[in-house]
Formats: sequence, C-alpha cells, structure tokens
Amino acid sequence: MLEESEARKQVLERIETGPVIWLPIDLARDHFAAQDLHGVSDFPDFDNSSMDGYAVRASEAMTGASLKVVDKIQPAGIDQHLKLPVGHAIRIFTGAPIPEGADAVIMQEDVDRTDQVILVQEAVVTGENIRRRGGDVCAGQKIIAQGDRLTPARLSLLASQGIDEVPIYTRPMIHVVTTGDELVQIGDYRMPGQIYDSNGILLKTSIEALGGIAEQVHLQDDPELMRQAIAILCEVSDFVVIAGGVSVGERDFVKDVLNALGVETSFWRVRIKPGKPFLYGQHPNGCSIFGLPGNPVSAFVTFQIFVAPALRKRLGQIVKDPGLLQVIGRAGEVLRNGGDRPHYLRAVETDGEVFLSGTQQSHAIFGLSKANCLIRLEPGQKVEEGDMVSGIKL
Ligand code: AMP
Ligand code: MG
Repeated sequence: MLEESEARKQVLERIETGPVIWLPIDLARDHFAAQDLHGVSDFPDFDNSSMDGYAVRASEAMTGASLKVVDKIQPAGIDQHLKLPVGHAIRIFTGAPIPEGADAVIMQEDVDRTDQVILVQEAVVTGENIRRRGGDVCAGQKIIAQGDRLTPARLSLLASQGIDEVPIYTRPMIHVVTTGDELVQIGDYRMPGQIYDSNGILLKTSIEALGGIAEQVHLQDDPELMRQAIAILCEVSDFVVIAGGVSVGERDFVKDVLNALGVETSFWRVRIKPGKPFLYGQHPNGCSIFGLPGNPVSAFVTFQIFVAPALRKRLGQIVKDPGLLQVIGRAGEVLRNGGDRPHYLRAVETDGEVFLSGTQQSHAIFGLSKANCLIRLEPGQKVEEGDMVSGIKL
C-alpha cells in the first residue's frame, strides 16, 4: 500500500497546469495569474496633492507667514500647468497635480484665509502632503506574480495601470459521479433502507469553492451502465471524481469499469484512515480519474489530501508543499491512534485549543460538519492533553 505523500506525488506528476486564456479583469476574480505582470507606468505618474489645501514653497510657509492666493485654482483633473510665483500659494485639491515651483501642500485646516491671503498657522516641510510620482509603483516593476490569486485588490491594481485583460488558467470541468443503488436524490421518494445522497453536494461544492466547474451525475451499481456513462464523462471532463464503489465488495464495480475503459490506474489503496480504497488513474485521453470511498468522511478526507492539491495545481495556484501540515493548537483532550495507518481526526480548534468534533466513524457527517480542522495522528501516536497537534485547517 502506498504512503499518502507518495500517492499525492504520483497524482501531481500527472496533472498539468492550464491551459491559459486572457480574461477581462471584471471576469477574472479568484483566478490565478498565468504569468508575471509588470507596471505599465509609474503610479502615481505625476506628483500630486494628498490633501485639500494650498500648494506652497515650504521655505515661505513658516508659522505666521502670509501668502497671496493665486487667482486660478488647481482641482483634481486636467493639469492647469500653473506656476507658483514667489510669496504666493495656489488653491489645490486632493489628487491634483502639483504646480511648478511648489514643494509642499499646506492643509486648509492649517491656514486662516481672508479674501486672497492665507495666514499660515502650522508650518510645512518640503514634500509634505505630496504623493511623489512612482511612490507606489514604478513602470516595469513586477506587480503580480504568476500564481497570485486575482483578488479584488489585485484587480484594482491592474485597473490603476490601465490593464483591462489578464492571462489566467482556465477552470477545469469536473464531473462528480456518485454511485450506489441505496442512494436517492433529495426530492425523490425514499424507500426503507435507502439514504439521501450527500456526497454529491459535498464534492460539487468543494470543487466550486476551489475554483473548478462541477456537475454531478448519479449512477446505479450496474457495470455496463457505469462503463457507458463514465466513457462519455471522460470525453467531456478534465477530471472525473467518482465516489463509492471503489472498495472490495461484490457491488464495487468502479475498478473493473475503469479497466474496461483502458484507464491506466496509477494506484489503488493508500495507507491512511479514513480513505484507504482511494484510487487514481488516467484515461487514455488524459482525463484524470479519482476514485473516492463512498463513506462521506472518507470521501471528504481523500478529497482534501488528493483531489484538492490536484485541482489547485490545475488552476495554477502556487502551493509550496501540499503535504505540509500546519500547527493547529493544543490538544484539549488525550488523543490516540491505536491503528497501523496515519489517522485524520475531525476536530474543532477554538482559541488554540483542539477537541474532537464528535464520533470519528467514517459515516458521521454531523461531526464532520462541525470540524474546522483535521488532526493527523501517526500510527501508535498518543497525544497528551496540552501537547501541540498538527493537521489541515479547513
Ligand atoms: P461504498 O464505497 O460504495 O461501498 O460506500 C460506502 C458507504 O458510503 C455506504 O454506506 C454507502 O451507502 C455510503 N455512500 C456511498 N455513496 C454515498 C453518497 N453519495 N452519499 C452518502 N453516502 C454514500
Ligand atoms: Mg456503493
């Protein structure tokens, strides 16, 4: 059986980033930049005032000095190309170009104005209240790095540079295939013994939250029907994520179906709990196929540790080491892994203290719904109350 890190390595080796398209910036939010982007011009690209006030020479604007106010004003907008005569001040507003000869702006609150004269109440120093050309960004400077998420603030940075399109990695099309005769969809009649499908929404929304496009198809446990449906889905998907039917039961047909479709299975089974029967393969056309165990918690954990890193890579998100665990906090209770596989436990971290979130069986969705982290315990590991624990933040 493969170790988790080796299994993830094998998956990621087979996932390619991209393809790349250019998108208008108003459609690009939360995509990842497909290349470095550089400043087109200095920002600001002219010296301008950061205050409403008067443009002056600092050497003339001592406390108690009076300065004559020039007739013309310089509002924000088109540069009036005003020149500041000696002994004068020019009325100026926030964002307005600094007139030639001025080297500071005195705030309007710091002067007394009578008619065409200001009396300086508070002296200014050279450069005060002036936003210098290039003070934020210089032309040619790298402003976005490949792999950066295009947040609203980064999109506004691009807009400030007059850049209206950005290269991004496209969102992959992912089909979620839920399997099982015992499952019904919400709204359908549920016979005794049947259960509602909960993996469909779990996986579809998990994919969407990371940036993929997801659709769900439910299939009965019928190998011929599965073969036909999955064959079509592989033609129209970047990834197919199958939940259930990958284990060793008589009614677990997924492996045989994939073999019949010529899928090259990289591995089946990983040394983790929950999630042992996880499978990864590639269809001859390059479509990646993830086989997740059907138990909801197992599906969730294997999604987090295998599918999510693959999806992030496909979307061009830079993740240094997807296997790196984070420190979660201090155990609020004794934790133990008596088994022979690394165990991901569902837990809640509050103010640095970590408690399990209910029963740890792999069908237990309520505990999963409360969890804000997964704690990883190595085989045989015992954690005392107060010890630091690490895992994955959700
Ligand atoms: P399987 O991996 O197909 O053997 O399924 C393992 C367990 O997970 C069974 O108890 C299934 O009923 C349950 N299960 C499988 N698929 C789903 C699903 N889509 N939603 C909820 N439970 C499921
Ligand atoms: Mg099943």
